[in-house]
Amino acid sequence: MKLMTTVQTVERLRRIFGDQLRVSESLARHTTARVGGPAELFLTVNSAEQLEAAAEVAYAAGLPYFVLGGGSNILVADGGMTGLVILNRARKVSFRHSGAGVVCTAESGANLSALARQCISRGLGGLEWAIGVPGTVGGAVVGNAGAHGSDIDASLLAATVWEPGYGRRVYSREEMAYGYRESALKRDREDNRARRVVLSAELRLKPEPVDVLTARADGFTAMRKERQPGGASTGSMFKNPENFYAGYLIDTAGLKGFRIGDAVISEKHANFFINEGEATAEDIRALVAEAWNSVREQFGIEMELEVELVGDWAFE
Ligand SMILES: Cc1cc2nc3c(=O)[nH]c(=O)nc-3n(C[C@H](O)[C@H](O)[C@H](O)COP(=O)(O)OP(=O)(O)OC[C@H]3O[C@@H](n4cnc5c(N)ncnc54)[C@H](O)[C@@H]3O)c2cc1C
Repeated sequence: MKLMTTVQTVERLRRIFGDQLRVSESLARHTTARVGGPAELFLTVNSAEQLEAAAEVAYAAGLPYFVLGGGSNILVADGGMTGLVILNRARKVSFRHSGAGVVCTAESGANLSALARQCISRGLGGLEWAIGVPGTVGGAVVGNAGAHGSDIDASLLAATVWEPGYGRRVYSREEMAYGYRESALKRDREDNRARRVVLSAELRLKPEPVDVLTARADGFTAMRKERQPGGASTGSMFKNPENFYAGYLIDTAGLKGFRIGDAVISEKHANFFINEGEATAEDIRALVAEAWNSVREQFGIEMELEVELVGDWAFE
């Protein structure tokens, strides 16, 4: 296959997307940790069709591409990202009755927490746990986001996925091979394969009285407020190792309040690493290394990152 040059690819993307394409856009503006250098090319898409077309063009040209949802589960390097970052704003949502339940079809750029609220106001249960979880439906489907004893796995009927070199394919819940914050798609990077892209998801919902759903969601929100700190972060940095909470281990290792530059391990919840203003991605990564090493030394446990480190890191 003869690959197009970057210049030709940029021209092609510009022809299709016009000024939706930008050059050298700071990713700190698009991530919840508020860190990260520039994306070489940055494209905002507004529909599943545009998302698919963007990934298709990049893949065909041999240009690395990365789908950015809410940027709430990634740590972007200060060096930024080479290739094309596709900001997913495909947000169309629809509902249809199916037997005793309702199926919601959401484009992958829909905001998960807003969708959960919309479901509650329609008297549809199943996503209350997602109130307050930042990010998009696509990010949640890839990472099997979850809280309060539930997760995406519990609601997903199917996902429409764009596969590099193949095109659209519908994945059943079983094909997503979900585990704790894991899925077949999340493993693409480790497996060194071109990333598949979630275009939309079908979620199964159950009719329930609005006041019951609202009370449940309010309870979850109160719990979140009580346990989690505010501020710029990526949420839980590490996965909970079997039989332990990562926050407990980091706390017991004596690291609550430990800081490097403006990056600090939260006093309220030690698995949250907060950017207090001017932190760099490298500051946060150094905190990650400190926590990982301390926990291994003191408990012999090697924690696994929940957050994905992406972009051009100096150590790579
Ligand atoms: C304050 C706070 C609280 C949080 N609480 C929770 C919680 O309770 N439970 C929980 O599970 N998580 C939690 N998180 C983490 C985060 O919100 C979830 O992981 C969320 O689902 C990530 O979605 P996103 O759109 O932000 O993904 P991003 O961070 O933008 O992307 C994450 C990964 O998914 C990929 N991706 C995104 N969209 C697509 C797509 N359409 N197709 C293919 N790949 C895609 C990206 O390329 C990247 O590899 C929290 C985060 C914060 C900051």
